[in-house]
Amino acid sequence: MADTSVELRDLVKYHGATLAVDHLSLEVRAGEFFSILGPSGAGKTTTLRLVGGFERPDRGEILVEGRSMQNVPPNLRPVNLVFQTYALFPHMTVFNNVAFGLEMRRIRRAELRSRVSAALDMVKLSDKHSRLPSQLSGGEQQRVALARALVNRPAVVLLDEPLGALDQQLRQEMQLELKAIQKQVGITFICVTHHQEEALTMSDRVAVMNHGRVLQVGSPQEVYESPTSEVVARFIGLSNHLSGRIVTVGGTTCRITSPDIPTTQPLLVRRPPGPMEANRVMLLLRPERLHVSQDAQAGRFDNAVSARIEKVTYTGSEMQYLLRLSDSVLWRARLPNSGARQERFRVGEAVFLCWNADDGVILTE
Ligand code: ADP
Repeated sequence: MADTSVELRDLVKYHGATLAVDHLSLEVRAGEFFSILGPSGAGKTTTLRLVGGFERPDRGEILVEGRSMQNVPPNLRPVNLVFQTYALFPHMTVFNNVAFGLEMRRIRRAELRSRVSAALDMVKLSDKHSRLPSQLSGGEQQRVALARALVNRPAVVLLDEPLGALDQQLRQEMQLELKAIQKQVGITFICVTHHQEEALTMSDRVAVMNHGRVLQVGSPQEVYESPTSEVVARFIGLSNHLSGRIVTVGGTTCRITSPDIPTTQPLLVRRPPGPMEANRVMLLLRPERLHVSQDAQAGRFDNAVSARIEKVTYTGSEMQYLLRLSDSVLWRARLPNSGARQERFRVGEAVFLCWNADDGVILTE
């Protein structure tokens, strides 16, 4: 297909006895920022190295722009891997680091100069072309590594934990910058990260991976707001859980009860797509979707359950509450700090947790 940049078909890769990649299939579209997100050991780096040609699959096929990569060595693939450690030559200037690959390929001097200058422009480092890597900040070194990939005009740039070596604040700045550079150059980026906020911020689409398999692929909003499994919901941000049973089903909503919490009436939740055969379900609710209040807010929300405040954490930007709904159910709520007039709750206080049907997701077991 013309708009598919990279296609992975049923890839299997063992490292000794470890199954690192387990029948993995994915399609990455041309020009998108695609992230593979998952915990350490999920098989992300192995997948990236398979695309780069640094490992060979035991089974399956890799196509880049419709062409099979079987037997194509890394240096002849239209892809470039940016290493987490940047792998810059310490004794060479920024310009020479970026020019190195082109020199190896004996590109003419005039063309080499213009391509290196263009790549340094893209990453906003033109004014630092004669510095050594040691004279650059971590973020700038990262951009040199990126320029070194872009200068080859690859079809795909592969990034392995690109921001892993940076501190938190710089990391957030670089997330936006990387995304802006990618949009500007229009090249497909495939990025591997275990950092969920990073994947959600930068990507057009995200694949959530665990134990060598892809669990879900979707836009950041889809995987965050409509996870299709508990593992995905737990991995992408905090979630509150409640197991229950469906008691009535309507057109767009259904009602569930749970033996784990005392409720006066069944909870109203959004109905998942497809037929509703299973009657045991798991309700997932994001902590920022919950409202905490002293009364049940009758009429304002679809659901209200009573709870007791167990812990209060002030983070500056938020108030975080740990709430006990019953002996076996503890939930979290996160409320943006809206100032001194905001209602604050104390440990031990009895409150109501309120939310609307659309705020939760149910998974059928
Ligand atoms: P991730 O990038 O998601 O952390 P990896 O692809 O690095 O995951 O690793 C997947 C699995 O394969 C892990 O269990 C890891 O220990 C194993 N593994 C990775 N590389 C090697 C290797 N060179 N030799 C043996 N086992 C490996």
